[in-house]
Amino acid sequence: MRALLADYTVLPDGLKANVAVRIDDAGNIAGIGPVMAVDSVRRMPGCVLMPGLVNTHSHAFQRAFRGRVQFRATGRSDFWSWRDAMYRTANSLSPEGVYAVSRLCFLEMALAGVTHVGEFHYVHHQADGTPYADPNELANRVIAAALDVGIRIHLLRAVYATSAIGVPLGPDQLRFRDASPDEPLDACLSLAKHPNSRVGVGLAPHSVRAVPAEWMPELASFGGPIHAHVAEQPAEVSACLQATGRSPLAVFAEGGLVTDRFTAVHLTYPSQGDLQIIDDANAAVCACPITEMDLGDGFLPLKLRSGRVSVGSDSHARIDLFEEARCLEMHARALVGRRNVLAVEGERDSLARRIIDIGTVEGTRCLGGLGSGISVGASADLVAVDLDRPAAMGVPPVEAVAFCATPEWVQHSWVAGHAVIQDGLHPLAQDILRGAKRHLGG
Ligand SMILES: [Zn+2]
Repeated sequence: MRALLADYTVLPDGLKANVAVRIDDAGNIAGIGPVMAVDSVRRMPGCVLMPGLVNTHSHAFQRAFRGRVQFRATGRSDFWSWRDAMYRTANSLSPEGVYAVSRLCFLEMALAGVTHVGEFHYVHHQADGTPYADPNELANRVIAAALDVGIRIHLLRAVYATSAIGVPLGPDQLRFRDASPDEPLDACLSLAKHPNSRVGVGLAPHSVRAVPAEWMPELASFGGPIHAHVAEQPAEVSACLQATGRSPLAVFAEGGLVTDRFTAVHLTYPSQGDLQIIDDANAAVCACPITEMDLGDGFLPLKLRSGRVSVGSDSHARIDLFEEARCLEMHARALVGRRNVLAVEGERDSLARRIIDIGTVEGTRCLGGLGSGISVGASADLVAVDLDRPAAMGVPPVEAVAFCATPEWVQHSWVAGHAVIQDGLHPLAQDILRGAKRHLGG
């Protein structure tokens, strides 16, 4: 038994000063309170200890072409032109490249305080669509990359069958192809046998563009987390309305996929009734504001504190989950023209706390966990954030994390009690950077 002792700890019922978090040999939190009956105490002066950040929506391979589409090519420059560049990268990476770039991406996440990633994985086959000898070759490469770095991963195995509603895949989409709903379900069954307890599996019907509605009832038999891109683009919504008479979310709901295990990624353009569908099912939304801003997509029109919301770094234009979470409040302010939109009136810490929860425990819930934070019995997935710096001076600790923190403030992290980042460093960083270098550039 050992203990972590920071100046402040973010507990489910509020911020506490000078409490020790005791961790047992299985990596679970065994007690919270005074230091006693432990073999060692790790003191962290100047730090606030909080649940690890959870990156609910990632496509790790997209890290390979960061910065390569920040110029105006001839013609349009929007989500769809960016997607063409993304396809070129997706089709150029070897299995070794997928592994090396994913390791780099997960290293960057770990250094930014992420302890758990939901990897929405849709590159399955060779570039011409031929499956690898092991159909889960690339998924396993991505899982291996996360385990090398030491973070927890939910491999959200994407389902991808069409280019648009009723339109066959194009030649640049053959790597993503599923021929039947059985293929992704079988893949999930196989991936779920992974022996490492840091590996979980979810199902990711890519979008209404990519998944036929008639596949959805069978996909709904999956019992774990289900994530889908929903209403990311106005063109996607109007095409869906035209083809089906329903919004993308309503199509997923009619297919039986929208339950309390469902996360709608983006929902930037909800149709009338969509938010009610989410609330009625106690489903969640995952916003990715940095990517959505980078792509010129828009932002989640969140006007209320209520509802389950998490965040992800999606295309990895930058990896900063603190910023992703606070963006929701900032976008809400821009939308409604006042401040403190996600706060509960009269509750002093509620806004900052809500932002921290969006970046941490809400993500855990989207990935099938309880999201109980730092509590007895929970896995010790923790991050220590250094507040001993000029930008935090005089700022209340919870507000400092919610409104000011950057990835550079991350001092230490643990996953299931195992150290991942210590003193701002990762032991494999140099090896990972060397391994990724030749695969970057898109
Ligand atoms: Zn995405």
